[in-house]
Amino acid sequence: MTSDTTNTAAGIVQQDTGHQNAGSSFGEMGSIIDLGMPAPGGAFDEHHPPDAALIGDCVHCGFCLPTCPTYVLWGEEMDSPRGRIYLMKEGLEGEPMSNSMVSHWDACLGCMACVTACPSGVQYDTLIEQTRAQVERHHDRSAKDKALRGLIFALFPHPRRLRLLKGPLRALQRTGLDRRLRQTGLLERLSPQLAAMESLAPRLEKSRPLPERSPAVGRRRAVIGLLTGCVQGAFFPGVNAATARVLQAEGCDVIVPRAQGCCGALSAHNGREEEAQSYARNLIDTFEASGVDWVVVNAAGCGSTMKDYARILSDDPKYAERARSFVERVRDIAEILDQLGPVATRHSLEMSIAYHDACHLGHAQGVRLQPRRLLQGIPGLELREIAEAELCCGSAGIYNILNPEPARELGDRKASNIVATAAEVLVTANPGCLMQVATAIERSGHPMGMAHTVEVLDASIRGLSPATLTASARAHTSPEN
Ligand code: SF4
Ligand code: SF4
Repeated sequence: MTSDTTNTAAGIVQQDTGHQNAGSSFGEMGSIIDLGMPAPGGAFDEHHPPDAALIGDCVHCGFCLPTCPTYVLWGEEMDSPRGRIYLMKEGLEGEPMSNSMVSHWDACLGCMACVTACPSGVQYDTLIEQTRAQVERHHDRSAKDKALRGLIFALFPHPRRLRLLKGPLRALQRTGLDRRLRQTGLLERLSPQLAAMESLAPRLEKSRPLPERSPAVGRRRAVIGLLTGCVQGAFFPGVNAATARVLQAEGCDVIVPRAQGCCGALSAHNGREEEAQSYARNLIDTFEASGVDWVVVNAAGCGSTMKDYARILSDDPKYAERARSFVERVRDIAEILDQLGPVATRHSLEMSIAYHDACHLGHAQGVRLQPRRLLQGIPGLELREIAEAELCCGSAGIYNILNPEPARELGDRKASNIVATAAEVLVTANPGCLMQVATAIERSGHPMGMAHTVEVLDASIRGLSPATLTASARAHTSPEN
């Protein structure tokens, strides 16, 4: 990533962005609070521009810099949270939206490590989503970029289309053609982005859809609606099956409404505001009609977006209040299990695991203790922590497809930290992380097992052997039966 920015010893930006305001310093950041609407001719229109007051919360202390993966990779101020916020301020003050500005915002993984690190409580998550919606409205992307994004959004938020893709993908994997195609390097030369997409696909197995209602084992403690998710449902059906079994074992009726679709996470994270709102409305309708106590999610990226529905639908008079009450009922699977407390017997699993905090679970939802408590409740299981835990693995929704090079660097860095734990299994709670880390672990030449938190709990409750979880990363398939 290139940038025309240098840091002074004081950590204050002296920059040449090619913009009129080049040379302004963060010392002027406070003035933005006084701005009402974006200045005419600037980067943003009046529909939810990046919030001036939130920008003004940044005191440019730089505590966020060491946790920002792009700053760690490139050391460029404009590829740090502080730099990106500065560019938002410039845009509000009248600077037109330039290719350079957009490249720095596009390079952000949306991992929210900066939100965790920031002592001033800067809501960078809201700021970047507001900015991305403006970029989608005002920035003219290249034809290649548009085509790639078009393909991604015609595919990923559509569970049925993803399921249709599984047949040909499975055939490629069974015949070994996928490996041979990768070895030729043809796809890589044609499009590194398509090559990245192909290389991420996990080992696919046939699966059965979950029943619409699965009864609690023993006394019923709650009625849970399960979001099956697009990528989770198509590529990791075993994780959904394990989630349902664990919830049943813990005394929950599990409802899987057939009408559910995408939660809108990918759309929201990529500035496709209306699309995200439409997915959010559909999901609210579906789960309201199902009469459940809680809506449970096992994919961190989906959960963090569903908890943000109140903001996403705040302008919609018909849905704003419903969105607020929906959000109160959304729980990550680790949260609800921790909240309910265990009733099912845990059998021993003599093995070591390394737990990776998915950014959208740890940073975006603040769910860190609950999965660790659940895992530590399994007799015989040893939990190991990973160095540089706050750094993103490079998955970040579709970031690893759109930006394969930095994603690969981050993936390799994460894999090397994971391998250093010498654990037998890597455990995490997001399908994107599972695919990204599995691919990086395979590249590292140190095969290990991969599992979702709930698959480990499921194996323990069912008394399965550790071998069901320690199969190598690329061979990752959930113990479904
Ligand atoms: S830590 Fe927060 S206040 Fe400090 S520079 Fe980063 S975003 Fe701004
Ligand atoms: S969301 Fe992640 S990549 Fe983006 S600025 Fe914050 S720490 Fe950096």
